[in-house]
Amino acid sequence: MIAGRLAASLAGKRKRFEAPAPMLAMVTNLAAGREVFTSNAFLVTGARTVLVDPGNDFDAVAGVRERVDALDAVVLTHTHPDHVGNVAAVVDAFDADVRGFDPDHEFVDHAVADGETVRLGDHEYTALHTPGHKDDHLCFYAAEPAVLFAGDLVFAGGSFGRTDLPGGDRAVLVESIEYVLEAVDESLAAMHTGHGPSVTDDPDSHIEAALRAARR
Ligand SMILES: [Zn+2]
Repeated sequence: MIAGRLAASLAGKRKRFEAPAPMLAMVTNLAAGREVFTSNAFLVTGARTVLVDPGNDFDAVAGVRERVDALDAVVLTHTHPDHVGNVAAVVDAFDADVRGFDPDHEFVDHAVADGETVRLGDHEYTALHTPGHKDDHLCFYAAEPAVLFAGDLVFAGGSFGRTDLPGGDRAVLVESIEYVLEAVDESLAAMHTGHGPSVTDDPDSHIEAALRAARR
């Protein structure tokens, strides 16, 4: 229960569990160090090679080719231009299937509904429909290996996605952060966000901090 979790957190009595070793080597941010208008672009390798958000305004195709021969799918956290500008080039190069929440969007081949599972690399991730920043926003969570792709819902340090763009809504964003906190185990090992650094030191606490900030 979210109320219980928060109450326990406020009281400083939350149990901490030993997190399993995160398989960070399997996730590479192709947009790292790019000083252009782009989101992070995470290549997840393993049994099924998937690019989570192709990003924008850099050569994502070359970035993929440097690391793998083929790409099975593209998965979108949402369809803001900084996340999807490279989609066409990536699809062209790898004939990859593009999955996102809204099947009516021009870039989306197949819909991913809330609660549906999607294989990224070697693990099954559950899609969490998390509107507020954008109405077609998804997060992806796998209890094993305890990894969350948070998109632009929340970021390191307790900041959260802007809600002043079309389709944005702060109250809805707060509900979405609560939904993710409820879904995600406290022992979350890694959180990969749409912008800024990934978090591997108690990411759950960063989500809680974002919830507090977004409620203000
Ligand atoms: Zn966005």
